[in-house]
Amino acid sequence: MITSINPYNQEVISEVKELTKAELVEHIEIAHERFLSWRKTTFEERAALMQAAAADLNEHKEAYAKTISLEMGKPIKQAIAEVEKCAWVCEYYAENAPKHLAPKSIEADAVESYVSYEPLGVVLAVMPWNYPFWQVFRFAAPALMAGNIGILKHASNVMGSAQNIQKVFERAGFPKGCFTNLPIASAKVESIIKNPKVKAVTLTGSKPAGSAVASVAGSEIKKSVLELGGSNALVVFEDCNIEEAVKTAVQARFQNTGQSCIAGKRLLLHKNIAEEFTQKFVEEVRKLKSGDPADEETFIGVMAREDLAEELHEQLTKSVKQGAVILVGGKRDGAYFEPTVVTDVTPSMPIFKEETFGPVIGITTFKNEDEAVYLVNSSNFGLGVSIFTEDFEKAKKLITLFDDGAVFVNELVKSDPRLPFGGTKISGYGRELSEDGIKEFVNKKTVYFN
Ligand code: NAP
Repeated sequence: MITSINPYNQEVISEVKELTKAELVEHIEIAHERFLSWRKTTFEERAALMQAAAADLNEHKEAYAKTISLEMGKPIKQAIAEVEKCAWVCEYYAENAPKHLAPKSIEADAVESYVSYEPLGVVLAVMPWNYPFWQVFRFAAPALMAGNIGILKHASNVMGSAQNIQKVFERAGFPKGCFTNLPIASAKVESIIKNPKVKAVTLTGSKPAGSAVASVAGSEIKKSVLELGGSNALVVFEDCNIEEAVKTAVQARFQNTGQSCIAGKRLLLHKNIAEEFTQKFVEEVRKLKSGDPADEETFIGVMAREDLAEELHEQLTKSVKQGAVILVGGKRDGAYFEPTVVTDVTPSMPIFKEETFGPVIGITTFKNEDEAVYLVNSSNFGLGVSIFTEDFEKAKKLITLFDDGAVFVNELVKSDPRLPFGGTKISGYGRELSEDGIKEFVNKKTVYFN
């Protein structure tokens, strides 16, 4: 049995029976059979179904959001926004996939030569609980539009959301087997990747999970995409608009109760504005409303599991022992963790060098641009960085010096269907979203007529 527990009150929400090995193999067979007909459908046919999926998401967003919120503690307003964003990515790929995947003509010695972008077949998605709908849809919408088939191994604590996602595709009218939720524990993932009918795998999650999945995929010579953890820096220069930067930085760190791969986890402040910025930042953090995730006024819910809150508390305690100073927050109660701001953080502390997956932010000061770049790049993660400055010329020079997969100026790092999304270093490889994302799981076939 796979059990979903409400982290707000510890009540069991659902118990789902795990698939047996035989059932798993059967689902993969069905998925492969479906691929043989799905690959022959036109973009128009796929787009009509994808638009229907978008309509279903919009129509049932409250119900889907409620399950998300119950299963992993996300405040209900943020859960509804997540479902709406999924409708957007479905619409985006329904409209743009034909353009992204149009054959690319290349002049050579042939009468005609071009690259044709064709589906690979059944693709496995191993997904995390923090955005239980969004992470899946940003994989599924481009994969299905490209003519691939999706099979999902979702995180164990969000099985209800996983079932709802399959329901979206069924209600939209996708043929059986186009998208299948597989309720299984992670121990069964290896056998799926090794199944010859499964052609590729994408994983969003932690480094250990990514490493395990990519190792198996590598040994089978199968394509993998990894979207792993992050420890994004928010770099505040002295020439920024402080009021705006404070607001953006609070959002960047504390939305989704701090459980976002692209959250700004390390706040790097120029020494000349550090005091003023810190004081204003702490004031804003004190105003964040914690409470029942079901309450529309709540901004900080509970963390998704009590053990995760405990782990975060350990990272904080160790950092404090090394000299970090708590300015606000710092306590936890079950899965609830107070919004926490810590200063005097150095690169050797856990809250600087590890990923903190909850509402805790550490402040480090810097003296000049070189030191800021050094601090940003001294993380092993490389998802993204936000810099705050009014000097765009300076920003453009600095952008090339960061190792990360994204640099946002005067904005929090966020995903957008139109822009590529992905990391470097131990944050993973490959890209999701935009044209880059849909081209990850296609056979770029060279065609030559003589
Ligand atoms: P996780 O523990 O790695 O789990 C992610 C998924 O992988 C779950 O479905 C999990 O299944 C499965 N899994 C775990 N170990 C596995 C293994 N050895 N083999 C195969 N599958 C395995 O991560 P999480 O705690 O759910 O999510 C938090 C992490 O995800 C953070 O590090 C966060 O930064 C990262 N993340 C990254 C992005 C991005 O786009 N870069 C986005 C969101 C989250 P079970 O639940 O059954 O263990």
